[in-house]
Amino acid sequence: MVKICCIGAGYVGGPTMAVIALKCPDVEVVVVDISEARIAGWNSDRLPIYEPGLDDVVKRCRGRNLFFSTDVERYVGEADVVFVSVNTPTKTRGLGAGKAADLTYWESAARMIADVSRSDKIVVEKSTVPVKTAEAIEKILAHNGRGVRYQILSNPEFLAEGTAVRDLFAPDRVLIGGRETPEGQAAVKVLKGVYARWVPEDRIITTNLWSAELSKLAANAFLAQRISSVNAISALCEATGADVAEVACSIGKDSRIGPRFLSASVGFGGSCFQKDILNLVYICECYGLPEVAEYWRQVIGINDYQKSRFVNRVVSSMFNTVAGKKVAVLGFAFKKDTGDTRETPAIDVCRGLLGDKAVVSIYDPQVTEEQVRRDLAMRKFDWDHPRHLQPVGEPGDQQPVAVTTDAYEAARDAHAVCILTEWEDFRSLDYRRMYDVMQKPAFVFDGRNIVDPEKLRDIGFIVYAIGKPLDQ
Ligand code: NAD
Repeated sequence: MVKICCIGAGYVGGPTMAVIALKCPDVEVVVVDISEARIAGWNSDRLPIYEPGLDDVVKRCRGRNLFFSTDVERYVGEADVVFVSVNTPTKTRGLGAGKAADLTYWESAARMIADVSRSDKIVVEKSTVPVKTAEAIEKILAHNGRGVRYQILSNPEFLAEGTAVRDLFAPDRVLIGGRETPEGQAAVKVLKGVYARWVPEDRIITTNLWSAELSKLAANAFLAQRISSVNAISALCEATGADVAEVACSIGKDSRIGPRFLSASVGFGGSCFQKDILNLVYICECYGLPEVAEYWRQVIGINDYQKSRFVNRVVSSMFNTVAGKKVAVLGFAFKKDTGDTRETPAIDVCRGLLGDKAVVSIYDPQVTEEQVRRDLAMRKFDWDHPRHLQPVGEPGDQQPVAVTTDAYEAARDAHAVCILTEWEDFRSLDYRRMYDVMQKPAFVFDGRNIVDPEKLRDIGFIVYAIGKPLDQ
């Protein structure tokens, strides 16, 4: 029986291991983390992350063959396969600051593996890492090992938050990269055997290590590029009277382009897209490819432009000032069906509105007041240098920000409603009821294009939707 241990009980490590445990009842899976709070959460009735369907999966195997523990060294030492799913954020200081991946957590995990291992192990890169990371990990393990042999595999995760369980149950593909030596290929076979329990063979792709590492960065860059492409077109739609939904539908009918991931919005967020593109930019620069770096940098440039364009539209529509005006923000998570606010566009939009002295009232069904205050307090809003956001205060600093427990309360006495997350519930709110409790003229700025502008106009709202013809 293969013993699996995963270092890192986050948005990837937790759900991924829960699904492996469910699908492989004869495999012992232990997820370890240095964060006691996270592990306590995984062992409680209130999981530390919100993900549809996850509670059920965890309940079915926790205590049977799925365990969560802070005893990192013990379970790593006992495992045959060690997944490493620690965070790989953008470096904030030193060489490559603002672009390169910070591999501190990875390096300390690798040193710890070397320290505690007494038997041969397969070490699996689950985190998203720069291409060639496996080479560095091999060096760390080789120089610290005690005759223990390691095989490094790259097995990047392609799940999307909000649909993680569905994605893990039926992945588009599972990618496994390994060394082309007999030992490397034997390790690939072991990992393939785990996934093959539920993933059809033709969906398991095996490649060399560097292809697998680079594929993850490239996949995220392509996805983000698609959003920036449609958002760039949305600006042109607003300038010309074209409708971005009609344009997206027309181009999406081309089977070479396809219809998915073509929704215009206030911009992409989440912990991955920006970080991984910055990482790609840095790698290109390091390999002497500045033109390629510049190409990808523009994907982020357009995303920043889209967020600032949205804020400018709100302020300019409201007679060029929002000072002292209450603005209701519906949705703070970076997308629906998650409580994750990392790099959410709502942070930049709220900071922009606060910078113009608005009073902001926020409602999100899965985001806590504590998260909002932490996110807004710790970042300085600066469109000119968006990559160099500085801390401006401590969590808990007083700001003209309220967090409410329902959308109607957020809208009471507000001059405007900004929709920033595409929660399904926001489609079916009673906008007439909202209109009745708002200041007039009442505005809706739909940053996700989820409500019908004509219906809102019939109620009396002045409406701005991304890439749609404007109210006169
Ligand atoms: P996360 O921050 O939610 O989780 C990482 C966890 O690792 C944390 O709980 C942290 O305490 C733990 N950790 C860090 N160092 C440790 C150590 N030395 N020992 C034990 N635990 C340690 O991050 P995440 O969102 O799960 O992402 C993890 C990786 O997966 C990143 O590289 C990310 O880019 C990648 N990824 C994320 C997603 C996503 O949707 N979140 C999707 C695909 C890939």
